[in-house]
Amino acid sequence: MAVSNPLTSLVDLADPRIVSRLVIKVGSSLLVARGAVRRQWLAGLVAEIAQARARGQEVIIVSSGAIALGASRLGLEKGGRGSLADAQAAAAVGQILLSGLWSDLLAEHGATAAQLLLTLDDLEDRRRYLNATATLMRLLDAGAVPVVNENDSVATQEIRFGDNDRLAARVAQAAKADAVLLLSDVDGLYDRNPREPGATLVPLVSGVSADVQAMASADSGSGMGSGGMTSKLQAAQIAELAGIALVIANGTHDRPIARATGHAGGEAIGTLFQPGRKAGARKAWLGGRLRLRGALIVDAGAAEALRGGSSLLAAGIAEIEGEFGRGDPVAIRDCEGRVIAHGLAEYDAAECAALRGKQSSEHAAILGYAPRRAVVHRDQLVLK
Ligand code: GLU
Repeated sequence: MAVSNPLTSLVDLADPRIVSRLVIKVGSSLLVARGAVRRQWLAGLVAEIAQARARGQEVIIVSSGAIALGASRLGLEKGGRGSLADAQAAAAVGQILLSGLWSDLLAEHGATAAQLLLTLDDLEDRRRYLNATATLMRLLDAGAVPVVNENDSVATQEIRFGDNDRLAARVAQAAKADAVLLLSDVDGLYDRNPREPGATLVPLVSGVSADVQAMASADSGSGMGSGGMTSKLQAAQIAELAGIALVIANGTHDRPIARATGHAGGEAIGTLFQPGRKAGARKAWLGGRLRLRGALIVDAGAAEALRGGSSLLAAGIAEIEGEFGRGDPVAIRDCEGRVIAHGLAEYDAAECAALRGKQSSEHAAILGYAPRRAVVHRDQLVLK
């Protein structure tokens, strides 16, 4: 994460020194028109994604379109959104087409697509959040392009995100991305309903205030996605709290990323929501939410390493307190009882006890399965 270089203008979105990891959300209305995939347009976007990767940016795609595509294939009314059962069936059919499409188009640029289907709980529950984070990290590390969607075929009303705008913001959080680009069928946020005369595009928002919310119209115009501006503002709020920049831009044009960032010959066009705080904002947010379930007491060497920015390894743990589970927040204290940090445990208390004082190379033999390297990863801890 490029925490020392905050994103201050739309142009920065294409700068790998500022945005090293980018989540791009593609709305249904961009992907599907009259029941068919807009393949040529999508090929153009994938070429831009390949260019972003070539200049050193890691990209995660959040792709809508499964319901729209599946509904057309099955001949379901109301674009497959007439009932939950229709949406689930449409998504099951559409998703397989969608993943094939991304996979084929990315492969034309030598990139490997990786599919992740998530439900709300996968990112709200700490343990599952850590699992999703680990998977995303590993995929990016391996050079793949994660293509994420909600697992609509199994998600019921109660456990649904329902829109991919908020899903994209949560995925950005889990993946520790620097920015989210929501590609939609509007240029960005307007100061009033864009159909009203005199409506002007708002290029920069610092804080989603009540005034900003009043500008949003729930109508996205296309009627195909479930997003609209309201869910985009909710996504902006999630991103803002997590210290991640969010951009809304119009994907209906050719080379939408170049257009949004001012690299297509004209001015940059879109709305940039600046992240709430600068350096360490994500950790500040994490720190604010911690309710501790236990403690790890560490030796002097580990205490020093932690203060220097390292992860906590099992070898440095002297004692364990409490009955915490994997993903639970714990305090990390030195042997004098001083609190060094708060963080999320990668192992439960029993596993920590088994690994205490042991080198990482011994962990697999002790636990009987492939372990995580750290007991508390540095990305999941806040120094006190
Ligand atoms: N997950 C839905 C789909 O793939 C899209 C949700 C949305 O419209 O934001 O069709």
